[in-house]
Amino acid sequence: MNVAIIGTGYVGTVTGACFAELGHNVVCVDIDRSKVDLINAGIPPIHEPGLAELLEKHARAGLRATVDYNDAIPSSDLTFICVGTPSDEDGRIDLSIVRCASESIGDALELNGRDSHHVVVVKSTVVPGTTEDVVAPLIRAREERENVGIAMNPEFLREGKAVYDFMNPDKIVIGGDPSSAEMVARLYEKIPCEATLTDIRTAEMIKYANNSFLATKISFANEIGNICKQLGIDVYEVMSAIGKDFRISEQFLNAGAGFGGSCFPKDVKALIGRAEELGCDPLILRAVVRVNEEQPMRMIELLVKRIGDLRGRKIAVLGLAFKNDTDDIREARSIPVIRKLLGMGASVAAYDPLAAENMRAVFPDVEYCQSAADALNGTDGCLIMTEWDEFGSLDLEFDAMNEIVVIDGRRAVSLDRGVYEGICW
Ligand code: NAD
Repeated sequence: MNVAIIGTGYVGTVTGACFAELGHNVVCVDIDRSKVDLINAGIPPIHEPGLAELLEKHARAGLRATVDYNDAIPSSDLTFICVGTPSDEDGRIDLSIVRCASESIGDALELNGRDSHHVVVVKSTVVPGTTEDVVAPLIRAREERENVGIAMNPEFLREGKAVYDFMNPDKIVIGGDPSSAEMVARLYEKIPCEATLTDIRTAEMIKYANNSFLATKISFANEIGNICKQLGIDVYEVMSAIGKDFRISEQFLNAGAGFGGSCFPKDVKALIGRAEELGCDPLILRAVVRVNEEQPMRMIELLVKRIGDLRGRKIAVLGLAFKNDTDDIREARSIPVIRKLLGMGASVAAYDPLAAENMRAVFPDVEYCQSAADALNGTDGCLIMTEWDEFGSLDLEFDAMNEIVVIDGRRAVSLDRGVYEGICW
């Protein structure tokens, strides 16, 4: 099938590359010409394991990119909207990019007046009601287009494992009328996973309920972890045991510095915003966000307890990405921590295997180091903010600190000398 993908960020690029791998002809559209040029050159605009290989294999033969909607939409059977859905200042969903992309799709469809059926699929995470109330009217604005179907196909991939997750999903959810949903399902038919077919609003809600539940698990583990720490109990032992209960499962119970990334924080807040508009009071969701916002500040409190006033002190921050195996720093827990350290008069030496360049744009005054050893050298304290595998083998590197004081937000290292303290253990 011929597929247009609008937006070549994490979701769009991975979706495009994976659809090409499944044998479809894909054309990606982005307003950012540098991303378009990279994709056409077979180079991923983002870091994701396995993505470079797919782009190299399919670029120009089965997968290309353009900045021109008219070059992509008319020749496609389906168009996937994969643009960002950030939060506004109140935490509610900002649909301006989705609106803009929908208008451009509507224009491209109108300009090129297609005879055959075309399905516009929302893959961006949008609050229930958006696809039908915002996207569909913009796409069908000028006339009642009988031959344009609308569907919703939320994405559940995890950054750092995005290609694997796309090709090996535990669920495929498609919302829409039967003929549109069937067209979307055909795209995935080589993937051995039964699609859940439902209506559009339910598909939208499944994505929010899914992310909110996972975020709740993390904040729950963190809250229990904070209590365990006061009691001298190892929360990891507790979570490992309760995770054996099949109704709970061990996933997403790693107590630590909290969740970040482009999805959980904004999605939970967007659902809170939508619930409030509806007159609901989402008590649990609000608590999930609050625990998550307080958790990184506990890293600073523990550090201050150990080394006192931070003014003039040099602190190593190991790990900047919101999690390992990605260069994505969106809502990374390292951001409020670094902001607080700088605000308290400390200087920061940071190291991350992939995310340093992205963080430089946020904190230009931080010293970005080439290795953990460089970052630790001559520092008065160390905060571990990301669970990179390589941190697990750090040992003698800590001896280069003025004094070994390590606060671990991810249970990423084990150290039997100096001060080593976990955020929840
Ligand atoms: P992103 O910000 O990485 O990428 C969005 C892309 O859209 C950018 O390349 C941007 O240049 C492009 N863009 C902006 N305006 C455009 C326009 N008018 N026309 C064409 N392109 C335009 O976003 P992302 O992380 O890929 O997320 C996209 C959506 O998928 C969001 O709704 C997100 O919540 C959801 N989602 C993300 C993930 C994830 O792990 N990142 C997982 C599941 C779902």
